[in-house]
Amino acid sequence: MIKIYSDESFIQVEHIKNLLESYHIDCVTKNTALSSLAGEVPSTECWPELWLIDGSKKEMALAIITESKLACSAGENDWVCEKCDEKIEGMFEICWQCGALR
Ligand SMILES: [Zn+2]
Repeated sequence: MIKIYSDESFIQVEHIKNLLESYHIDCVTKNTALSSLAGEVPSTECWPELWLIDGSKKEMALAIITESKLACSAGENDWVCEKCDEKIEGMFEICWQCGALR
């Protein structure tokens, strides 16, 4: 098993899981019970995670996820965090590196 995806939003993780399953890629979610404990602290360690059962399908899964995220963030410009200079995708309002607001 390998970790393939993680997101603040349980709904988003479930969405990716359903998407991968529609391509016959088996996966399971983890940390879903912890997500409600994360509260307002943006900690990636508490985020729901998606794990691939068959690691050999990693490349395919990543390609599907990338395509899905591109579709989601279409029209949204990437931005650069003022605090840590990390480049963030337009769909996010919070820096995943340091937690600073856009
Ligand atoms: Zn930052």
